[in-house]
Amino acid sequence: MSRSQARRRVAFIGLALVLLGLTGVSVVGTVATRHVATSARTAAWLAEVYHHAHEATASEEIFKLQYRIEPERHARVDHADAAASLEASLRDIDAHGSAHDRAVVAKLRSLHKQYLAAAERFFSAVDRADPVQIRRVAADDIDPLESQLGSMLHDAEEEQDAAAGEASDRLDRVERLVFVATLSSFAVGLGMIVVFTLVATGYQRRLVRQAMHDELTGLPNRSVFLARTAEALDGAPSVLMLDLDRFKEVNDTLGHQYGDELLRQVSARTTAAVRTADTVARLAGDEFAILLPATGAADAARLAERVQAELHRSFDLGDVTVDIEVSIGVASAPQDSGSADELVRCADIAMYTAKDTKAGVLAYQPEMRTEDSSRLLLLGDLRRALEVEDQISLHYQPKVSLADGAVCGLEALVRWRHPVRGQIAPADFIPVAETTGLINRLTLYVLRHALAQSRAWLDAGRELPVAVNLSPRCLLDPGLVDDVTRLLAEHRVPAGRLRLEVTESAVMANPAQATATLRQLHDLGVRLSIDDYGTGYSSMAYLKQLPVDELKIDRTFVLHMDTDHDDVVLVRGAVELGHNLGMTVVAEGVEAAAHADALRALGCDIAQGYHYARPMTAPDLEHWLQAKVLSFL
Ligand code: C2E
Ligand code: CA
Ligand code: CA
Repeated sequence: MSRSQARRRVAFIGLALVLLGLTGVSVVGTVATRHVATSARTAAWLAEVYHHAHEATASEEIFKLQYRIEPERHARVDHADAAASLEASLRDIDAHGSAHDRAVVAKLRSLHKQYLAAAERFFSAVDRADPVQIRRVAADDIDPLESQLGSMLHDAEEEQDAAAGEASDRLDRVERLVFVATLSSFAVGLGMIVVFTLVATGYQRRLVRQAMHDELTGLPNRSVFLARTAEALDGAPSVLMLDLDRFKEVNDTLGHQYGDELLRQVSARTTAAVRTADTVARLAGDEFAILLPATGAADAARLAERVQAELHRSFDLGDVTVDIEVSIGVASAPQDSGSADELVRCADIAMYTAKDTKAGVLAYQPEMRTEDSSRLLLLGDLRRALEVEDQISLHYQPKVSLADGAVCGLEALVRWRHPVRGQIAPADFIPVAETTGLINRLTLYVLRHALAQSRAWLDAGRELPVAVNLSPRCLLDPGLVDDVTRLLAEHRVPAGRLRLEVTESAVMANPAQATATLRQLHDLGVRLSIDDYGTGYSSMAYLKQLPVDELKIDRTFVLHMDTDHDDVVLVRGAVELGHNLGMTVVAEGVEAAAHADALRALGCDIAQGYHYARPMTAPDLEHWLQAKVLSFL
């Protein structure tokens, strides 16, 4: 995870936490406020009910005295009403009060019961007009009960009043707290949103910048360069294409850090050498381009020479000094072309010609468009294609056992989808790549992808060996054995799962070195095949010495087996030769069942060809293999 991704994640988690906190504070606040408010309301209500009860006892006392003065019936009725009202209050307290309140109510009830009994005695003494008894009941029985009831109710009322006051204080405090907490978490949340937005837009801006610029040098990339060239077309611009002649050497011998540093310095010097209105871009690897708006061919060539002179000064890469050579091609609109793509292509051709002829700087001439220049353009395109991951891919073609129809291996075959020209057949670009060191890079690309695929198959339980084609030049590459060793280890593929196919002519080009390389590969455990057998000069003497265990008969002989008797003779001879040398024999180009039958009759072991399957992408191959299993069931 990159640093900016990590920062984005932290901002996101922070925002989520703050939102969660905000919700938490408001839920807890609401619950707490509700709770405190309820207890405040209950306490106030209870105080009121105790107060009513207290008033009821006072009324009882008044009506009792009234009856003594004027013994009329309505005083008794009013007294009974007051008693009932007291009872009703006690019932309310009993139902809604706390355990303590219920205990108080029980005590009050028992006192009130005694009081009512005493009141009855008092009333009958009044009815009998017995002053002695009246005074005695009033003083001894009723007065103490009345004062006890009164003071108990008074105390309870005071108690509830105090509780209500306290609860409302608490409510104030809680409300203040919730307010402050909500406000501050809201402020923090707002801050987080601001931070989050800043991080997210910064990230987006970086992504856009990354898509438009080369990360190493910070220069605009190819698509930006083409867009700016298109914009500048009306103003008669010129385009310079720059290629460093010894960059690969620096990269290979000193390492990538030095290569990268060199590119940065080249970029800085080039940018310093041109005007601010000009655009310097890095198109690929060591390829730079400069757009000069409103500049004619003569001025552009002068500027190119200035840039070249700048880049021919030594580069100081810390502990080493390197000198490079630069070739520059110049193309100008509108005379060379009226489109951005074509203008860049013209500058490319001029650059290749300058490089080829060691001319340094050359302006484009239509005569430069020879077959050779198209070859050079193809090489440039292929080199760029190897730096991206979406143009070059692999197809896999199954090899089938002639005895039982079982799939016994796969051959990886390269495919190139050119962004402008579409699919280009291997026959059209491999031979061109083989004329330069580019074939080594292509081979490594194929090996890397084939082994990654092999790993994926092994993980899925498919144990099919994969074959990769080696060009003659690869056998002379001193780094090949190390590269194969490293790639096998990187992808954790056992060496025995990899097969390398070489042609006889590849061996014959430099027998001593080729044989030594093949031995080293064989010692690693890698399997080897002779490819396209029958098309080149073969020498039994060499074939015998080679650590090869498979012979692949070229498809041209197999394709015409049914019409050309000479081909049958060659195939039979190849099968015998292979078997005599202890090799498995494979026939390529098997297009019909009749070929398969004939090959089986000749004792050939394995067949490969359209009759079984065409080369397919890995997912298509998976379907094919599954369908094959089903057809056996
Ligand atoms: P090859 O190594 O002889 O590969 C077999 C070629 O025969 C493939 O062509 C395949 O598509 C074709 N083929 C298979 N079955 C039949 C059939 O039944 N009939 C006919 N007519 N053709 C069949 P492709 O893929 O076009 O490759 C052509 C050549 O390009 C290969 O010949 C090989 O020499 C080279 N090549 C392909 N991929 C690579 C690679 O990754 N590295 C190198 N160095 N060379 C490669
Ligand atoms: Ca092959
Ligand atoms: Ca072949």
